[in-house]
Amino acid sequence: VLIAGVDIGGTNVQVGVVADDHEVVERAKRPTPTEGPDALVETIVDMITAFDADADVIGVGIGIPGPVHDGQVMRVPNLEGWREPVDIAELVSDRLNVPVALGNDANVGLLGEWVNGVAQGRSNVLGVWMGTGIGSGLILGGRPFVGSLGGAGEFGHMIIRADGALCSCGRRGCVEAYAGRRRMADTIKQMVKAGRTTSLFQIQDDEGKDRPTSKVWKRALKEGDPLVTEMFDGAVEAVALGVASTINLLDLEQVVIGGGLAEKLGQDLADRIREQAEPFMMQPNPELSFDVAALGDDSGVVGAASIGRPKVHR
Ligand SMILES: [Zn+2]
Repeated sequence: VLIAGVDIGGTNVQVGVVADDHEVVERAKRPTPTEGPDALVETIVDMITAFDADADVIGVGIGIPGPVHDGQVMRVPNLEGWREPVDIAELVSDRLNVPVALGNDANVGLLGEWVNGVAQGRSNVLGVWMGTGIGSGLILGGRPFVGSLGGAGEFGHMIIRADGALCSCGRRGCVEAYAGRRRMADTIKQMVKAGRTTSLFQIQDDEGKDRPTSKVWKRALKEGDPLVTEMFDGAVEAVALGVASTINLLDLEQVVIGGGLAEKLGQDLADRIREQAEPFMMQPNPELSFDVAALGDDSGVVGAASIGRPKVHR
């Protein structure tokens, strides 16, 4: 059977038609509409009905950036135009006449890696998604873990420094305040104002981007830009501290590093995080592996489809 997996990001909506073996047979990508939920529903319905396999799609799974409880997203801080909770699953279901399941985007991303990527067969896994912000998901005891109200896995908002750098959530000292791409760019802008220099924004212009994307970061790092290197060292340290604390709490067997930065920097990034996390681990585990997500851009789509699937078979 074919299921449509929908991965809603702050920048793009990605949709794929996914087969029983978790292979993506058709895919499409569009900018995330900024006019709010109605426009988003329209975009999703439009993208799915445009597929050749449209008529054979018998279920939909959606990953959305916010905590999901009882099939409802509680809040959506990173999407523009959302002022109140909206039952997006029901709206899409009414339009397409198929069952629709909703999950958190980072949880769903790790699910993709769990059903058909680098986390296959693992029981205790932390997935950390490094992009604009820091998303994460957990597999515990061989099952996805979302907590009591769907709010588990806020790895990006673990506090690693009391009264530290300002985070996008309004608090201070979170991992994301040091390792989220948007916060790192903001900090660099402030440092430039204070007299430091960097090639980051020149590279951004060269690449024709409107903000420092993962690709821009990769180039600045490769060219050895001192300020970018310093910021990124801080990001690796922040993630490593969060990972070490999580491992001390949960005794995991695998850490999966995904998202735009992981996709661009590869296994080297996972290795660096491991190296910096190890000194902080109470019980070093030789079996513990640090891996970069294997499905890249597809992990969200594949994971979303996997939550759409059981609903169909029920
Ligand atoms: Zn935060």
